[in-house]
Amino acid sequence: MDLKHLTGNATHTPLQLKFHEAMKSHGGRLPWELLPPTAKAIPAVYELAQALISRANKVYPCLPSIHFGFINSNAINGIACKSNDEYFIGITGGTVTLLQLMVHRMLADPTLFTNVGDPTKEEANLPHIKEFTPNALELSEAGTKVGIPRDKVRWSYSCNLINWAAIFLVGHEIAHISCGHVDYFDSNIGTPSLAELGWSAANAIKPMERQAMEGQADQYSFAGLLGIAFEKNSTNSSASTRAQLADLFRRVFEYSFSANLLFRLFGDERFVGSDLAADSYPPIGLRRRFIYGGGCDLARRNLTSDRQDIVQRALKAGMVAVEHAFATVVGEEVSAAGLEDAFSSEGQEHFKLLVELGEKELAAKLKPFSYDRDDQNAGEF
Ligand SMILES: [Zn+2]
Repeated sequence: MDLKHLTGNATHTPLQLKFHEAMKSHGGRLPWELLPPTAKAIPAVYELAQALISRANKVYPCLPSIHFGFINSNAINGIACKSNDEYFIGITGGTVTLLQLMVHRMLADPTLFTNVGDPTKEEANLPHIKEFTPNALELSEAGTKVGIPRDKVRWSYSCNLINWAAIFLVGHEIAHISCGHVDYFDSNIGTPSLAELGWSAANAIKPMERQAMEGQADQYSFAGLLGIAFEKNSTNSSASTRAQLADLFRRVFEYSFSANLLFRLFGDERFVGSDLAADSYPPIGLRRRFIYGGGCDLARRNLTSDRQDIVQRALKAGMVAVEHAFATVVGEEVSAAGLEDAFSSEGQEHFKLLVELGEKELAAKLKPFSYDRDDQNAGEF
């Protein structure tokens, strides 16, 4: 879907104009209210993002208001920035379009998610999404067909997965602000802006520090999602019923699948053997390792041992299911190369370095800029 042509006709409110200014270098504001009613995911994500920001404001009372909107770009990206002393979070329209394209195609496939709804209602032998690239316009120009689940239960399940993935990205951007990353950037390099792709300010911020910030934002955001699952599953009784454990598994699986899918859209490059300390972003596979590690750790600190086991299995199942579903819809063999590297000894070593940097040296540097003033609230928004 080409979103560019929509910009010219929009009438912006003062706040929308501010958002447009703040996101100008990334594509400006997407006037999503002008999109056709078929773009159903956008308003849903908007509402959820507002609710998540309100929740963050309650958890971090010092956190100023954050303005959320969509960016007029077909690429996959998310931005957290400060403009004229106000905070802004934007995710690209392309991100939502790509999530819709991939997740709906997965649920429209009768061989995937066979335990959801009635897969026999779905069309067999759907065309594959060939030569996947994380750009909605390029895929559309390549003639990519959109597959939509026919079964209502599968359609609604698909919409939920899309929402969770978008919300994970919004939560990640909130963390860039609440953890003080945006203000730390402002103070060190005079640029109060973090992007998920295309950031380059070589030598201004140590690449390892920049990587640790990404890992931190991923863990905070994912912990927020898991917090919802743990909350919904809380019980006054120490005994866990089978239904409760099944519900916990289902929720954690869905969050894991959604967050892992978002990362998978960015790619699956191998990274063992390359100079891991040189890049400004952690390898994508390692970011998936970050949310898995953070999720297991959160379960260890908050749940009984039977529930910890459920969470660990659900996190892993979500990670593996993404590889299988992605390979199926693009018509390729499962590779999971980046993920294999992330769990190799070299990947684990780099993971440990980033965690340690985030907890010690970087934590001290971020302290003056962080809105997470009360440590016990960490990761609970
Ligand atoms: Zn980020």
